[in-house]
Amino acid sequence: WKHAPASYRALLEMSRFHGEKLFLVYEDEHITYEDHFRRAATLANRLVDDYGVRKGDRVAVAMRNYPEWVIAFSAALAAGAVAVPLNAWWTEAELAYGVSDSGAKVLIADAERAERLAATGVPMIVVRGAATGGARTFAEVLGEITADVTLPEVELSPDDPATIFYTSGTTGNPKGALGSHRNIGQAPMTVAYGMMRAATMAGKDPGAAAGARRVTLLTVPLFHVTGCFSAMTATMFSGGGLVLMYKWDPEQALRLIERERVTGMIGVPTNAWQLMSHPDFGKYDLSSLVTLGYGGAPAPPKLLERITESLPDRAPSNGYGMTETSALAIGNGGADYRAKPDSIGLPVPVVDVRVVDPMGAELAPGEVGELCLRGPNVILGYWNKPEATAETFVNGWVHTGDLARIDEDGFVYIVDRAKDMVIRGGENVYCAEVEAALFEHPAVDDAAVIGVPHDELGEEVGAVVRLKPGATATKAGLQEFLAGRLAKFKIPVHVWFRAGELPRNPGGKILKTRLRREVLGTAES
Ligand code: ATP
Ligand code: MG
Repeated sequence: WKHAPASYRALLEMSRFHGEKLFLVYEDEHITYEDHFRRAATLANRLVDDYGVRKGDRVAVAMRNYPEWVIAFSAALAAGAVAVPLNAWWTEAELAYGVSDSGAKVLIADAERAERLAATGVPMIVVRGAATGGARTFAEVLGEITADVTLPEVELSPDDPATIFYTSGTTGNPKGALGSHRNIGQAPMTVAYGMMRAATMAGKDPGAAAGARRVTLLTVPLFHVTGCFSAMTATMFSGGGLVLMYKWDPEQALRLIERERVTGMIGVPTNAWQLMSHPDFGKYDLSSLVTLGYGGAPAPPKLLERITESLPDRAPSNGYGMTETSALAIGNGGADYRAKPDSIGLPVPVVDVRVVDPMGAELAPGEVGELCLRGPNVILGYWNKPEATAETFVNGWVHTGDLARIDEDGFVYIVDRAKDMVIRGGENVYCAEVEAALFEHPAVDDAAVIGVPHDELGEEVGAVVRLKPGATATKAGLQEFLAGRLAKFKIPVHVWFRAGELPRNPGGKILKTRLRREVLGTAES
């Protein structure tokens, strides 16, 4: 081997054997494995020959979930470069940060992103739009695509850097997570394991679970590890199809499931929830759908109940992962999930877990502390951030910043993010627990719990609640409802009702800092 056997490059080479099978679907465009390989290999050669890309150089990708995202990502890695997926939701300033932080040598962007990136002055290849300034269009760069195209020569080993994914920035500024070829190489296997486990435990044959062929609908961006690894590389590994969406839209998702005979959906918990809540949910033929995988943000236990009612006989699964663990690390599905719907499940077989106190000492089962993970999926560290790296990655363990407990059977429960927890007069109130209780109220559509500054107690519990269309509820009514479920000190004393959506990032996470800024000091109503 001239390159790491378990590298993305190897995966790409193997994918060619799927030939004329369908790989990517976007609106009316259908791209086969052979098509994808040829375009990616052609672009990889152009990156090397025209742009001077060498091993370790960074190539940034900034676009919506177009097929070209996958082609550009594949090309960058095939050229031996480090792929840098930039967040397509970022503003001009944020994109400029991503470009300068990563030191990208070439940018591959869609027209909208290209405009926002123009000021960086970095050579650019423009997808689905005109190229201005010194930029070139994607088609122009690719030129003629020949059937005998091969990947450029480059020697890679498993610990060579392969990707810089930016963390979601939920708790601060996004950090560049430097992933290796080993990290990418193992990702499809952990995902395949998680999916198979969820399917078998739901009484499905894991192969046939997905029908003759797995077709995955991706409802979240490719620029996060869930989209890129749990959906894209896992699809490539299995020879299945991947259906992409310009943006999340429940009705469009229903239509695509019916049209493409989708067998599995991958996204965040709110996607599954909104799909089932759509007024036309019952009008579509969803009989092909077998697996519903979600994660990236807390999944209220109520979601499982809802799936059992609205999509019975399916295999839902809740996956826990982070950018630093190259997507999936812990997962719950099938009978386990039904027995312990509030757990994120068991670690995938290559991952070790433990919960530690602030001094780093391992805690006993049932005790709450910081969740730490170790395994071949843990990244090399943060790009350009030696201090944050030293703090987060200690002796091979990644400190997740999530508070968790592990039960006697080894099941992991996320209690809260350490930074989100509300400390009321010295008592810890875990937002996720209060949110889950709020979700049980029939009128509640969405909810977020935040800390509200209080002179004496330090913080008090506040909730921002969005009601279902046409439903009504009062602050007193909600408090009374929660009184039957939670200790008194956990019940929100402040409640803000909101008509619009709660601010979430593309990972489905509520942006609590922003929410706090928006509601604190405003009248409760
Ligand atoms: P930042 O690190 O920049 O603040 P982030 O932690 O949101 O952002 P990601 O790496 O995208 O960035 O997300 C990982 C986090 O998402 C985990 O640490 C955890 O808090 C949360 N998470 C992921 N999956 C689940 C899940 N299934 N249940 C609960 N929380 C989850
Ligand atoms: Mg994080």
